[in-house]
Amino acid sequence: MNLDKNSYSRILDDLQEGLYLVDRDRVIQYWNKAAERISGFTADEVVGKTCSENILTHVDGEGRSLCLGACPLAKSISDGEAREAEVFLHHKEGHRVPVSVRVSPLKDTDGKVIGGVELFSDISSEKAIELRLKELEDLALLDNLTRLANRHYLEKELMVRFEEHKRMGIPFGVLFMDIDHFKKFNDTYGHDVGDLVLKFVANTLNKNLRPFDVMGRWGGEEFIGIMRNVTGQTLEQLGDRLRVLVDDSYLMRQDDKLKVTISIGATVTRSDDTLESLIKRADTLLYKSKAAGRNRLTLG
Ligand code: GH3
Ligand code: MG
Ligand code: MG
Repeated sequence: MNLDKNSYSRILDDLQEGLYLVDRDRVIQYWNKAAERISGFTADEVVGKTCSENILTHVDGEGRSLCLGACPLAKSISDGEAREAEVFLHHKEGHRVPVSVRVSPLKDTDGKVIGGVELFSDISSEKAIELRLKELEDLALLDNLTRLANRHYLEKELMVRFEEHKRMGIPFGVLFMDIDHFKKFNDTYGHDVGDLVLKFVANTLNKNLRPFDVMGRWGGEEFIGIMRNVTGQTLEQLGDRLRVLVDDSYLMRQDDKLKVTISIGATVTRSDDTLESLIKRADTLLYKSKAAGRNRLTLG
């Protein structure tokens, strides 16, 4: 088999996994089609730039930026070892996408490291239900703007979880979330930009759930996450991770980095709860997070 440069390029472009190559200074040299699909950035937009220039800006699960210190690609370039990691990349539309990455050094024929290669795949569980979205749309259970579960869907889901709790004793938790100072954001940037922000916040929340949890738009800039079979401690961890990922999500508009934070009220069902008492308690806890300074979670 005799493959020319174009054939290699076509093969790389056909991969399901995102792939990019960087030189020793981490300047992007090649960016395949799947990388475009997963990140929203085209090759034209990124080749010749370093990935820390507001492109992927990977963060870890605690929201720490990997570009400055613990970049797996930089480590592989410096020590010549391959490694794997789960990180969250910045999508061009603003949200954070959980990805599994594998990085390896690129070596020349003498074994000298000349750069690095990163392969990455989208591991958001929302991907698995892509086919169901159309079905939900037909049933009028999707919110038009964000394509998350709408309030009607959330209420149905809550009733199912209440039944499960009553019959089998399986507890569930809710995260009641509200964007901080969103009125001010709209006043500053306009309602249309506000809508884009609302969408990327919704996407960050929805793409970073466990497969069996449900995230929906309760109304306006309020979201509810229904988290199955959790203790208070797990609920707090899951909620705080989402909060940090929203804090790390942003949209570039000219040179402005547009971002917002969310406050959360988190609570687990009690045996005498009704839908109303549960939501009311979560709402009161959310209010406590607001009063305590916002961008935080209150568990109760
Ligand atoms: P707080 O931190 O206390 O939550 O402050 P806030 O300004 O976010 O609170 P408030 O509830 O007073 O304002 C909510 C704002 O959200 C008002 C409204 O303009 C905005 N909003 C609600 N729905 C939408 C929407 O669909 N698109 C846009 N762009 N803005 C929305
Ligand atoms: Mg509100
Ligand atoms: Mg608000």
